[in-house]
Amino acid sequence: MPNSAHKNSISIAVMPGDGIGPEVMKPAIALMDRALERTGGPKLSYEELDAGAECYRRTGTPMSEEVFEKAAAADAILFGAMGLPDVRRPDGIEIAPQLDLRFRLELFAGVRPVRTIPGAPTPLADPRAKNLDFVLIRESTEGLFTSRGKGEVTPDYVRETWEITRAGSERLFDFALQLGRRRKAKGSPGSVACVDKSGVFRAFAFFRQIFFERAKAFPDIDARAFNVDATALDLIRRPWIFDVLVTENQFGDILSDAGAALMGGMGMAPSADIGLTHGLFQPCHGTAPDIVGMGKANPTAMILSAAMMLDWLGETKQLPSCGAAADLLQRAVDAAFAPGDLRPFELGGEAGTQAITDRVATQLEALPLEA
Ligand code: ATP
Repeated sequence: MPNSAHKNSISIAVMPGDGIGPEVMKPAIALMDRALERTGGPKLSYEELDAGAECYRRTGTPMSEEVFEKAAAADAILFGAMGLPDVRRPDGIEIAPQLDLRFRLELFAGVRPVRTIPGAPTPLADPRAKNLDFVLIRESTEGLFTSRGKGEVTPDYVRETWEITRAGSERLFDFALQLGRRRKAKGSPGSVACVDKSGVFRAFAFFRQIFFERAKAFPDIDARAFNVDATALDLIRRPWIFDVLVTENQFGDILSDAGAALMGGMGMAPSADIGLTHGLFQPCHGTAPDIVGMGKANPTAMILSAAMMLDWLGETKQLPSCGAAADLLQRAVDAAFAPGDLRPFELGGEAGTQAITDRVATQLEALPLEA
């Protein structure tokens, strides 16, 4: 259990990781600290922890037990990105301590907001796609990922299986339905859709059935179910119809990258992995080995993930100043892109890590504390 119930300061386990992870982590922490200063929020104490592919290369282990224990004891985990294509375990699988953390800390709800930032370049021409605001919840402890590292492999045959439990699905759907309710209170449509493939797999008939069972306790929510393939189509054809989507681990893995694309690219998309006792916050992107050390990494996703962490800390620890800092940081990002001239490298422009950070920092000073 995180340990700050009886402490004044809030402890953050910082895991910058590999590739561009450390490059985007540094500015995100500086901006977060400044936002907290402005709102009179608590001081965060950071402990940097060594884990990832480079750690594996150096020490033979991607994340030591000691590091895991420290991460588990912190009030929140701020995570950059881990894994490098050429660093693999003997079975050929990439190093991914983030998956171990999700499973071991039971971070069952992968929260992937898809919110377009006005002024930031996005791929769809339809004006309705310029104002997207929906959330994808990816189940993160079950599904096809339960099989990771355990698949049966012979020269002629492989087998990896889905696992979905009633208890895991119930807590997932309750989380999604509650989120739908909170969003509805702020003006969203209040629709929550289970995304599955129930016409083909019994596993998903089971998943969908549990969704509608849990939805009975939320009569104010418009509970729906969509097929995953139709959802992929609608993410491109009419993504503005969505409010909250909730789905299995592997489906969510794929759909959330499509969601990141709708926001303009991997460098724009934040995420949170939430459990009953812990929260881990990280950009949706990976380590981007192709641009490491070039100053081209877009820090926006990492900054917005840090804002999600502040928001979560504000809510779970009842610290309004933390929530206010989250809001300020998000508004500073929005204001940085608002003039429409800030074009990250990944979106065909010339703004690198420093330029984007500077623009957000300027807005952080200029904006009023209240929206
Ligand atoms: P993973 O499997 O760990 O998610 P990946 O190999 O699928 O990783 P990324 O590492 O996210 O993918 O990289 C995909 C592409 O997006 C690469 O071309 C990379 O340069 C680009 N990219 C990812 N993150 C950023 C970022 N923050 N800024 C700029 N470009 C990025």
